[in-house]
Amino acid sequence: MRLVGNVYWYPERGLGDCNTYLVRGDPTILVDPGSPRYLRRRLREMEEDGVEVEEIGLIVNTHSHPDHCGANRPFQELSGAKILIHREEEDHLKFSLEFGRYFGMEVPRFEVDAYLGERVGRGETELLVLHTPGHSPGSVSLYHEGLRLLLCGDLVFEGGVGRTDFPGGSEEELARSIERVSGLGLQYLLPGHGSVLRGEERIRRNFEFVKGYFL
Ligand SMILES: [Zn+2]
Ligand SMILES: [Zn+2]
Repeated sequence: MRLVGNVYWYPERGLGDCNTYLVRGDPTILVDPGSPRYLRRRLREMEEDGVEVEEIGLIVNTHSHPDHCGANRPFQELSGAKILIHREEEDHLKFSLEFGRYFGMEVPRFEVDAYLGERVGRGETELLVLHTPGHSPGSVSLYHEGLRLLLCGDLVFEGGVGRTDFPGGSEEELARSIERVSGLGLQYLLPGHGSVLRGEERIRRNFEFVKGYFL
């Protein structure tokens, strides 16, 4: 569904899945395709929004956990899009995929085409890439300046924060990353799981809450 402006949200559908977001334009960017188990459903939901899978030019992962990059390959095969990830997540990727298999999460093999730079997309799809480690070493948040909107992966959620007990996780780094993004004055906070948060005051209160209880 269209959330705001050119940003679309495809809510997570079950265990091993995540929220998928799409920033539409030239190029159209798909953020965290989720689990391959829900591929058909995602494609149907996109079709209902008038989005054709072929228009996706870039696939960006906020991090390499299997619930976020499981459907990278099928989406790449359907669209020809390039897959981008933070440089510091590449080493972590192999572990993530093995970890996923251990829990019975299917992740079709994919190759990373390029590392994320300071920005991704252009014009109305331009997103600032913020390195926000803690949940994993190369976790990123993507910031849309015009909409004051942040796609934060598993950094922070409604009433919670990302786990730091996986290998490569760090509670200190997570706290620093949350501190960094909490000052952005966001209108929209789009996490990798759970609800989307709207409104500066609500988002400010959420940051206050998680800082008080989890950090
Ligand atoms: Zn994760
Ligand atoms: Zn996740």
